[in-house]
Amino acid sequence: MKLARDQVSEPVDADARRKIAPVICYPVETLPRPDLAAYRVARERWQKIEEVIVPPRDARSFDVPAGCFFRIVSIEGPQVGDLNLWAANDLDERFFSGKTRALNGTHLSTGDQLWSSLPYLRPMATITHDTLDWYGFDEYGGSVHDVIGTRCDPYTHRLLSGHDYHHCCHSNLTRALAHRLNRPKEAVEPAVHDVLNVFMCTGFTRDTGQYFMKASPVRPGDYLEFFAEIDLLGALSACPGGDCSAEHSSDAAVCHPLLVEVYKPEAPPQGWTSPARNPYGRQHGE
Ligand SMILES: [Zn+2]
Repeated sequence: MKLARDQVSEPVDADARRKIAPVICYPVETLPRPDLAAYRVARERWQKIEEVIVPPRDARSFDVPAGCFFRIVSIEGPQVGDLNLWAANDLDERFFSGKTRALNGTHLSTGDQLWSSLPYLRPMATITHDTLDWYGFDEYGGSVHDVIGTRCDPYTHRLLSGHDYHHCCHSNLTRALAHRLNRPKEAVEPAVHDVLNVFMCTGFTRDTGQYFMKASPVRPGDYLEFFAEIDLLGALSACPGGDCSAEHSSDAAVCHPLLVEVYKPEAPPQGWTSPARNPYGRQHGE
């Protein structure tokens, strides 16, 4: 946090240095982009093959075969969801929130892809529809579906409050994964990772650069839709923060369930193939 606690004097050319224009860290002109038009054709003919209700302050897992679509749907009331994704057959390959942020920016929407961890680095899923795309960035710099937060967790909660809370998204996701794999919680906990914050409205304060949240603009009927580029195992937590307008990591907020729907198209998008497992090779540079 840049709160100028130290008495550091400015150099004479401070303003000139600040006025240097930024450059984009990862120019995306060469980033391969999905053929959204082909995805749209595929989603005109599909069948729902699975439905999972995620109870409030809890999480559930779900499977999405490569070439299928899935939706996270708001039902009953405004609710934020914390999403984890793994390659279906390998927990080591998981959603890489940080690199997805570096490539796509702080908040995701239609056309953005969710990339997997190193050394795999391939698109796991593509966002094909976002009913909250209209929100853009608000006057506070806030927007929806961020990859800047991590997930609420009992350790940070205890660090800051001294109290225990067992329905943080981290714990919910851990329990859902343990249940799905029939393995002990302790064994699968390290596979839980930084999330896509579905429907959450967040940003950084302009004066101190602190992570903020505000009431989600999501309403029942809104959804975020993905195309599974590879076979996926997913887990979604209905955050104990509810719409995240006040606080998380407690039972104080009003919480609602979320719905996950999986759709299988009659035919995969024209020209689409599932990306190879390690498309850019191992680059250790002996
Ligand atoms: Zn949470």
